[in-house]
Amino acid sequence: MAKKWNLIVDVARCDNCRLCFLAVKDEYVGNDFPGYSAAQPTHGHTWLDIRRKERGAYPLLEARFMPVMCNHCDAAPCIEAARDGAVRKRADGIVIIDPEKARGQKQIVDACPYGAVYWNEERQIPQAWPFDAQLLDAGWTRIRGEQSCPMDVYRTLKVEDEEMQRIRVEEGLEVLNPELETRPRVYYKNLHVMTRCFVGGSVVEQVDGVEECAAGVEVVLSQGGREVGRATTDTFGEFKIDGLEPGSTGYELEAAGSTGRLTMQVDLGEDSRYLGVLRLTAPSPRFREP
Ligand code: SF4
Ligand code: SF4
Repeated sequence: MAKKWNLIVDVARCDNCRLCFLAVKDEYVGNDFPGYSAAQPTHGHTWLDIRRKERGAYPLLEARFMPVMCNHCDAAPCIEAARDGAVRKRADGIVIIDPEKARGQKQIVDACPYGAVYWNEERQIPQAWPFDAQLLDAGWTRIRGEQSCPMDVYRTLKVEDEEMQRIRVEEGLEVLNPELETRPRVYYKNLHVMTRCFVGGSVVEQVDGVEECAAGVEVVLSQGGREVGRATTDTFGEFKIDGLEPGSTGYELEAAGSTGRLTMQVDLGEDSRYLGVLRLTAPSPRFREP
């Protein structure tokens, strides 16, 4: 079976430095690659973009970032929408919008459900990131984004599809909008930081009449009697349980430390929740061991 190109993007590692974005600009703005892509205009196109998401609330607040680009789908709607073979899938998996044949075919922009295709008004052509095919064909083994990234977010892989499926399962990779059934070749690791929610809080306890951060407290989150997450509070008494479905409800949160415990009901909205300062309550004296 033929080896094909794939890209793995580890969302948890991206810190929004935007060096990959600049690398794509450097590669394509003002540069024609006949047979691959026409020059990207100076303004208005983001063939590789960085999406942002804020999660939680102060003090458990985090910003997450996710690079997005053409997914080089195996069942690509842009190919179906194109006339005269203006968009083609190469044997190595890469999707190329032919800069000559695609002239005037604005419907290709509209056909992409990911918004990855941009219209070049001056040249009247649709354009998208061509997986740096001009470089890979010249012997490169990594895309420019991977070369420029200081955080090892990207992994460019040329493997057989069976091997890619094995890696996908082994590493828990996901694709964007699988319900579209476009079969992307760009896979995401730790996508939950963009698509799912967390609950967190700051646990405190009474020590000699003084309120202190409660470190090392076991916090368990259950739903319908089934445990769905667990965490241990850090030095500041803070905990975070991630990977929860947005809008899900009916959770019970239990925290138990050496000085007391607490139980509370939790519902999620569309975003992550900081539950505030949670106080452990010492057990009633009549229940204490003699
Ligand atoms: S992401 Fe859009 S432009 Fe890229 S292959 Fe898929 S449908 Fe086509
Ligand atoms: S270079 Fe790496 S860390 Fe910087 S924005 Fe791109 S993917 Fe994120």
